[in-house]
Amino acid sequence: MADSKSDNSSVKVAVRLRPLVRSEIEKGCKNILEVHKELSQVHVKDTDKAFTFNYVLDTDATQVDMYDICIKEVIPNLFKGFNLTILAYGQTGSGKTYSMGTTCSEDEEMGIIPRSVNQIFEFVKDNFVFDFTISVSFMELYQEVLYDLLSGKAREQCILDIREDPQRGIYLPGLTEVVVESAQDVLNCLVKGSSGRATASTNMNSQSSRSHAIFTLNICMQARNNIEENKTAKFHLVDLAGSERPKKTGAVGTTFREGVNINKGLLVLGNVISALGEEKQQENRFIPYRDSNLTRLLKDSLGGNSITLMIACVSPADYNIDETLSTLRYADRAR
Ligand code: ADP
Ligand code: MG
Repeated sequence: MADSKSDNSSVKVAVRLRPLVRSEIEKGCKNILEVHKELSQVHVKDTDKAFTFNYVLDTDATQVDMYDICIKEVIPNLFKGFNLTILAYGQTGSGKTYSMGTTCSEDEEMGIIPRSVNQIFEFVKDNFVFDFTISVSFMELYQEVLYDLLSGKAREQCILDIREDPQRGIYLPGLTEVVVESAQDVLNCLVKGSSGRATASTNMNSQSSRSHAIFTLNICMQARNNIEENKTAKFHLVDLAGSERPKKTGAVGTTFREGVNINKGLLVLGNVISALGEEKQQENRFIPYRDSNLTRLLKDSLGGNSITLMIACVSPADYNIDETLSTLRYADRAR
Protein backbone atom coordinates (compact mmCIF):
# COMPACT_ATOMS: atom_id res chain seq x y z
CA MET A 1 0.00 0.00 0.00
CA ALA A 2 1.46 3.34 -1.03
CA ASP A 3 -0.35 5.41 1.55
CA SER A 4 0.95 5.49 5.06
CA LYS A 5 -0.51 6.42 8.38
CA SER A 6 0.37 9.86 9.65
CA ASP A 7 2.31 8.19 12.45
CA ASN A 8 3.62 4.66 12.74
CA SER A 9 2.91 3.90 16.38
CA SER A 10 -0.46 2.20 16.39
CA VAL A 11 -1.64 2.88 19.96
CA LYS A 12 -1.80 6.33 21.50
CA VAL A 13 -3.06 7.35 24.89
CA ALA A 14 -4.65 10.60 25.94
CA VAL A 15 -5.48 11.34 29.56
CA ARG A 16 -8.33 13.72 30.27
CA LEU A 17 -8.98 15.29 33.66
CA ARG A 18 -12.56 16.34 34.15
CA PRO A 19 -13.18 19.43 36.30
CA LEU A 20 -14.50 18.98 39.83
CA VAL A 21 -18.28 18.81 39.58
CA ARG A 22 -20.39 21.18 41.65
CA SER A 23 -21.24 18.69 44.38
CA GLU A 24 -17.53 17.98 44.84
CA ILE A 25 -16.71 21.67 45.12
CA GLU A 26 -19.51 22.06 47.68
CA LYS A 27 -18.11 19.19 49.70
CA GLY A 28 -14.72 20.89 49.66
CA CYS A 29 -12.95 18.22 47.59
CA LYS A 30 -9.41 19.02 46.53
CA ASN A 31 -7.85 18.53 43.10
CA ILE A 32 -5.00 16.07 43.64
CA LEU A 33 -3.62 16.20 40.12
CA GLU A 34 -1.44 18.67 38.31
CA VAL A 35 -0.55 18.73 34.66
CA HIS A 36 2.87 19.51 33.25
CA LYS A 37 1.89 20.38 29.72
CA GLU A 38 5.38 20.76 28.35
CA LEU A 39 6.24 17.23 29.55
CA SER A 40 2.81 15.85 28.63
CA GLN A 41 2.69 14.59 32.17
CA VAL A 42 0.19 14.12 34.98
CA HIS A 43 1.65 14.47 38.45
CA VAL A 44 -0.12 13.34 41.62
CA LYS A 45 0.44 16.25 44.03
CA ASP A 46 2.54 15.63 47.15
CA THR A 47 3.84 12.35 45.77
CA ASP A 48 6.63 11.29 43.42
CA LYS A 49 4.09 9.73 41.05
CA ALA A 50 4.11 11.16 37.54
CA PHE A 51 2.86 9.60 34.31
CA THR A 52 3.67 10.59 30.73
CA PHE A 53 1.20 10.20 27.87
CA ASN A 54 0.87 11.13 24.21
CA TYR A 55 -1.65 13.81 25.13
CA VAL A 56 -2.71 15.29 28.45
CA LEU A 57 -5.93 17.29 28.65
CA ASP A 58 -6.25 19.37 31.80
CA THR A 59 -9.52 20.20 33.55
CA ASP A 60 -9.98 23.35 31.44
CA ALA A 61 -9.77 21.55 28.08
CA THR A 62 -13.04 21.97 26.20
CA GLN A 63 -14.64 19.44 23.88
CA VAL A 64 -13.26 21.47 20.95
CA ASP A 65 -9.76 21.43 22.46
CA MET A 66 -9.87 17.67 22.89
CA TYR A 67 -11.11 17.17 19.35
CA ASP A 68 -8.51 19.49 17.83
CA ILE A 69 -5.65 18.03 19.84
CA CYS A 70 -6.14 14.31 19.45
CA ILE A 71 -9.00 13.38 17.10
CA LYS A 72 -9.12 15.68 14.08
CA GLU A 73 -5.80 14.56 12.65
CA VAL A 74 -6.46 10.82 12.89
CA ILE A 75 -9.81 10.83 11.07
CA PRO A 76 -8.30 11.20 7.54
CA ASN A 77 -6.58 7.82 8.03
CA LEU A 78 -10.01 6.24 7.55
CA PHE A 79 -10.07 7.54 3.98
CA LYS A 80 -6.76 5.78 3.36
CA GLY A 81 -8.40 2.53 4.38
CA PHE A 82 -7.07 2.18 7.94
CA ASN A 83 -9.35 1.00 10.72
CA LEU A 84 -9.61 3.37 13.65
CA THR A 85 -10.67 2.64 17.22
CA ILE A 86 -11.26 5.25 19.90
CA LEU A 87 -11.85 3.91 23.41
CA ALA A 88 -12.91 5.82 26.52
CA TYR A 89 -11.63 4.20 29.72
CA GLY A 90 -12.13 5.21 33.34
CA GLN A 91 -14.21 4.85 36.47
CA THR A 92 -17.91 5.68 36.41
CA GLY A 93 -18.37 9.45 36.58
CA SER A 94 -14.95 10.27 35.12
CA GLY A 95 -16.23 11.67 31.81
CA LYS A 96 -16.22 8.76 29.33
CA THR A 97 -19.70 9.36 27.96
CA TYR A 98 -19.22 13.12 28.00
CA SER A 99 -15.99 12.80 26.02
CA MET A 100 -17.29 10.25 23.50
CA GLY A 101 -20.64 11.96 23.08
CA THR A 102 -22.42 8.61 23.21
CA THR A 103 -25.56 10.29 24.45
CA CYS A 104 -25.82 12.86 21.79
CA SER A 105 -25.97 16.59 22.30
CA GLU A 106 -25.55 19.07 19.47
CA ASP A 107 -24.04 22.21 20.95
CA GLU A 108 -20.49 23.14 21.89
CA GLU A 109 -20.72 20.41 24.54
CA MET A 110 -20.92 17.72 21.89
CA GLY A 111 -18.40 14.96 22.09
CA ILE A 112 -16.23 12.92 19.76
CA ILE A 113 -18.92 10.92 17.96
CA PRO A 114 -20.95 13.82 16.54
CA ARG A 115 -17.82 15.83 15.78
CA SER A 116 -16.07 13.05 13.91
CA VAL A 117 -19.24 12.17 12.03
CA ASN A 118 -19.46 15.79 10.86
CA GLN A 119 -15.84 15.71 9.77
CA ILE A 120 -16.40 12.47 7.84
CA PHE A 121 -19.45 13.79 5.99
CA GLU A 122 -17.65 17.05 5.18
CA PHE A 123 -14.95 14.98 3.52
CA VAL A 124 -17.49 12.84 1.66
CA LYS A 125 -19.31 15.90 0.37
CA ASP A 126 -16.16 17.32 -1.21
CA ASN A 127 -14.81 14.09 -2.58
CA PHE A 128 -15.35 13.16 -6.20
CA VAL A 129 -12.92 10.29 -6.51
CA PHE A 130 -14.90 7.73 -4.54
CA ASP A 131 -18.49 6.68 -4.08
CA PHE A 132 -19.06 6.25 -0.38
CA THR A 133 -21.36 3.79 1.31
CA ILE A 134 -21.46 4.33 5.06
CA SER A 135 -23.34 2.15 7.50
CA VAL A 136 -23.74 2.24 11.24
CA SER A 137 -24.09 -0.41 13.91
CA PHE A 138 -24.42 -0.02 17.65
CA MET A 139 -23.88 -2.80 20.18
CA GLU A 140 -23.77 -3.27 23.89
CA LEU A 141 -21.60 -5.88 25.58
CA TYR A 142 -22.80 -6.83 29.02
CA GLN A 143 -21.48 -9.77 31.01
CA GLU A 144 -19.86 -11.15 27.84
CA VAL A 145 -23.24 -11.11 26.03
CA LEU A 146 -23.50 -8.95 22.94
CA TYR A 147 -26.71 -7.05 22.14
CA ASP A 148 -27.70 -5.31 18.90
CA LEU A 149 -29.00 -1.88 19.92
CA LEU A 150 -30.42 -0.98 16.50
CA SER A 151 -32.49 -4.11 15.81
CA GLY A 152 -35.70 -2.61 17.20
CA LYS A 153 -36.45 -6.01 18.75
CA ALA A 154 -36.85 -7.01 22.38
CA ARG A 155 -33.60 -7.38 24.23
CA GLU A 156 -33.65 -11.19 24.49
CA GLN A 157 -34.16 -11.34 20.72
CA CYS A 158 -31.24 -9.20 19.74
CA ILE A 159 -28.37 -11.22 21.15
CA LEU A 160 -25.52 -11.58 18.67
CA ASP A 161 -23.07 -14.40 18.07
CA ILE A 162 -19.45 -13.58 17.39
CA ARG A 163 -18.11 -15.78 14.59
CA GLU A 164 -14.72 -16.00 13.08
CA ASP A 165 -13.87 -17.05 9.56
CA PRO A 166 -10.44 -17.25 7.92
CA GLN A 167 -11.72 -15.25 4.93
CA ARG A 168 -14.12 -12.79 6.48
CA GLY A 169 -12.43 -12.39 9.84
CA ILE A 170 -14.78 -11.50 12.69
CA TYR A 171 -18.43 -11.26 11.71
CA LEU A 172 -21.74 -11.03 13.52
CA PRO A 173 -24.60 -12.78 11.71
CA GLY A 174 -27.81 -10.76 11.87
CA LEU A 175 -26.22 -7.53 13.07
CA THR A 176 -28.30 -4.49 12.07
CA GLU A 177 -26.29 -2.20 9.81
CA VAL A 178 -28.12 0.98 8.92
CA VAL A 179 -27.01 2.68 5.71
CA VAL A 180 -26.65 6.40 6.38
CA GLU A 181 -26.58 9.34 3.98
CA SER A 182 -25.87 12.20 6.34
CA ALA A 183 -24.46 13.13 9.73
CA GLN A 184 -28.03 13.53 10.94
CA ASP A 185 -28.83 9.92 9.97
CA VAL A 186 -25.90 8.76 12.08
CA LEU A 187 -26.99 10.79 15.08
CA ASN A 188 -30.50 9.38 14.78
CA CYS A 189 -28.99 5.89 15.09
CA LEU A 190 -27.01 7.03 18.11
CA VAL A 191 -30.10 8.38 19.82
CA LYS A 192 -32.15 5.30 18.94
CA GLY A 193 -29.52 2.89 20.24
CA SER A 194 -28.84 4.86 23.41
CA SER A 195 -32.51 4.93 24.29
CA GLY A 196 -32.78 1.18 23.73
CA ARG A 197 -29.84 0.76 26.03
CA ALA A 198 -31.42 2.78 28.80
CA THR A 199 -34.96 1.41 28.69
CA ALA A 200 -33.79 -2.18 28.53
CA SER A 201 -32.49 -2.14 32.05
CA THR A 202 -34.31 -1.81 35.32
CA ASN A 203 -31.51 0.15 36.86
CA MET A 204 -30.09 2.05 33.97
CA ASN A 205 -27.24 3.81 35.65
CA SER A 206 -25.76 0.75 37.15
CA GLN A 207 -26.20 -1.41 34.09
CA SER A 208 -24.98 1.08 31.55
CA SER A 209 -21.94 1.78 33.67
CA ARG A 210 -21.13 -1.92 33.69
CA SER A 211 -21.47 -2.51 29.97
CA HIS A 212 -19.42 -1.50 26.96
CA ALA A 213 -21.16 0.54 24.24
CA ILE A 214 -19.66 -0.01 20.79
CA PHE A 215 -20.68 2.39 18.05
CA THR A 216 -19.30 1.52 14.61
CA LEU A 217 -19.15 3.22 11.24
CA ASN A 218 -18.32 1.06 8.24
CA ILE A 219 -16.97 3.11 5.39
CA CYS A 220 -16.83 1.63 1.86
CA MET A 221 -15.07 3.64 -0.78
CA GLN A 222 -15.61 2.63 -4.38
CA ALA A 223 -13.28 4.29 -6.85
CA ARG A 224 -14.88 6.19 -9.72
CA ASN A 225 -11.74 5.90 -11.84
CA ASN A 226 -9.29 3.14 -12.68
CA ILE A 227 -6.39 4.71 -10.83
CA GLU A 228 -7.59 4.48 -7.26
CA GLU A 229 -8.28 1.22 -5.48
CA ASN A 230 -11.49 0.46 -3.62
CA LYS A 231 -11.06 0.70 0.14
CA THR A 232 -12.94 -0.05 3.31
CA ALA A 233 -12.42 1.18 6.85
CA LYS A 234 -14.04 0.48 10.18
CA PHE A 235 -14.36 3.18 12.80
CA HIS A 236 -15.17 1.94 16.31
CA LEU A 237 -16.07 4.38 19.07
CA VAL A 238 -16.21 2.55 22.36
CA ASP A 239 -17.59 3.87 25.64
CA LEU A 240 -16.12 1.25 27.95
CA ALA A 241 -17.63 -0.08 31.16
CA GLY A 242 -16.64 1.69 34.36
CA SER A 243 -13.21 0.50 35.48
CA GLU A 244 -13.94 0.64 39.22
CA ARG A 245 -13.53 -2.53 41.23
CA PRO A 246 -16.78 -4.16 42.29
CA LYS A 247 -17.48 -3.07 45.85
CA LYS A 248 -16.68 -5.89 48.25
CA THR A 249 -19.67 -5.08 50.40
CA GLY A 250 -22.97 -6.28 49.03
CA ALA A 251 -21.29 -7.77 45.99
CA VAL A 252 -22.72 -11.24 46.07
CA GLY A 253 -24.38 -13.44 43.46
CA THR A 254 -25.02 -11.75 40.15
CA THR A 255 -23.60 -8.42 41.16
CA PHE A 256 -20.29 -9.97 41.91
CA ARG A 257 -20.28 -12.03 38.72
CA GLU A 258 -21.01 -8.86 36.78
CA GLY A 259 -18.01 -7.21 38.27
CA VAL A 260 -15.84 -10.17 37.44
CA ASN A 261 -16.99 -10.34 33.82
CA ILE A 262 -16.68 -6.64 33.21
CA ASN A 263 -13.21 -6.60 34.54
CA LYS A 264 -12.39 -9.48 32.25
CA GLY A 265 -13.06 -7.36 29.15
CA LEU A 266 -11.07 -4.44 30.50
CA LEU A 267 -8.33 -6.71 31.80
CA VAL A 268 -7.87 -8.49 28.48
CA LEU A 269 -8.05 -5.18 26.59
CA GLY A 270 -5.21 -3.94 28.78
CA ASN A 271 -3.20 -7.08 28.04
CA VAL A 272 -3.86 -6.82 24.30
CA ILE A 273 -2.95 -3.16 24.06
CA SER A 274 0.12 -3.61 26.16
CA ALA A 275 1.24 -6.60 24.06
CA LEU A 276 0.73 -4.50 20.93
CA GLY A 277 3.00 -1.85 22.33
CA GLU A 278 5.85 -4.29 22.96
CA GLU A 279 8.76 -4.76 20.62
CA LYS A 280 7.28 -4.34 17.15
CA GLN A 281 10.04 -6.45 15.55
CA GLN A 282 8.99 -9.56 17.50
CA GLU A 283 7.37 -11.38 14.61
CA ASN A 284 5.28 -13.90 16.47
CA ARG A 285 4.44 -12.10 19.68
CA PHE A 286 1.22 -13.42 21.14
CA ILE A 287 -1.73 -11.07 21.39
CA PRO A 288 -4.49 -12.56 23.57
CA TYR A 289 -7.46 -11.29 21.52
CA ARG A 290 -9.46 -14.44 22.13
CA ASP A 291 -9.59 -14.07 25.89
CA SER A 292 -12.65 -11.78 25.95
CA ASN A 293 -15.53 -10.91 23.66
CA LEU A 294 -14.55 -7.25 23.68
CA THR A 295 -11.13 -7.97 22.20
CA ARG A 296 -12.46 -10.66 19.82
CA LEU A 297 -14.89 -8.11 18.50
CA LEU A 298 -12.23 -5.45 18.04
CA LYS A 299 -9.53 -7.84 16.83
CA ASP A 300 -9.18 -6.48 13.29
CA SER A 301 -9.27 -2.91 14.59
CA LEU A 302 -6.61 -3.10 17.29
CA GLY A 303 -3.01 -3.42 16.19
CA GLY A 304 -1.91 -4.50 12.74
CA ASN A 305 -2.76 -1.83 10.24
CA SER A 306 -5.17 0.00 12.50
CA ILE A 307 -4.94 3.00 14.73
CA THR A 308 -6.05 3.00 18.35
CA LEU A 309 -6.55 5.95 20.64
CA MET A 310 -7.38 5.36 24.25
CA ILE A 311 -8.78 8.28 26.19
CA ALA A 312 -8.25 7.60 29.86
CA CYS A 313 -10.71 9.71 31.83
CA VAL A 314 -9.90 10.59 35.42
CA SER A 315 -11.51 12.51 38.24
CA PRO A 316 -9.14 14.92 39.96
CA ALA A 317 -11.01 14.74 43.28
CA ASP A 318 -9.15 13.55 46.38
CA TYR A 319 -11.71 10.90 47.32
CA ASN A 320 -11.20 9.19 43.93
CA ILE A 321 -7.45 8.83 44.31
CA ASP A 322 -7.35 5.03 44.29
CA GLU A 323 -9.39 4.70 41.11
CA THR A 324 -7.53 7.60 39.50
CA LEU A 325 -4.17 5.95 40.18
CA SER A 326 -5.47 2.67 38.86
CA THR A 327 -6.63 4.36 35.63
CA LEU A 328 -3.31 6.18 35.23
CA ARG A 329 -1.43 2.88 35.67
CA TYR A 330 -3.69 1.09 33.19
CA ALA A 331 -3.20 3.86 30.66
CA ASP A 332 0.54 3.91 31.30
CA ARG A 333 0.73 0.21 30.48
CA ALA A 334 -1.12 0.82 27.22
CA ARG A 335 1.21 3.51 26.01
P1 ADP B 1 -18.90 8.37 32.79
O1 ADP B 1 -19.51 8.15 31.44
O2 ADP B 1 -17.43 8.08 32.80
O3 ADP B 1 -19.61 7.62 33.88
P2 ADP B 1 -19.90 11.05 32.47
O4 ADP B 1 -19.39 11.32 31.09
O5 ADP B 1 -21.34 10.69 32.58
O6 ADP B 1 -19.02 9.91 33.17
O7 ADP B 1 -19.52 12.30 33.38
C1 ADP B 1 -19.95 12.45 34.71
C2 ADP B 1 -20.38 13.90 34.94
O8 ADP B 1 -19.27 14.79 34.81
C3 ADP B 1 -21.42 14.36 33.96
O9 ADP B 1 -22.32 15.20 34.62
C4 ADP B 1 -20.61 15.14 32.91
O10 ADP B 1 -21.39 16.12 32.28
C5 ADP B 1 -19.52 15.75 33.77
N1 ADP B 1 -18.26 15.90 33.01
C6 ADP B 1 -17.45 14.90 32.64
N2 ADP B 1 -16.37 15.36 31.99
C7 ADP B 1 -16.51 16.69 31.93
C8 ADP B 1 -15.72 17.75 31.35
N3 ADP B 1 -14.54 17.50 30.76
N4 ADP B 1 -16.18 19.02 31.50
C9 ADP B 1 -17.33 19.26 32.10
N5 ADP B 1 -18.12 18.33 32.67
C10 ADP B 1 -17.73 17.05 32.57
MG1 MG C 1 -21.06 6.83 30.97
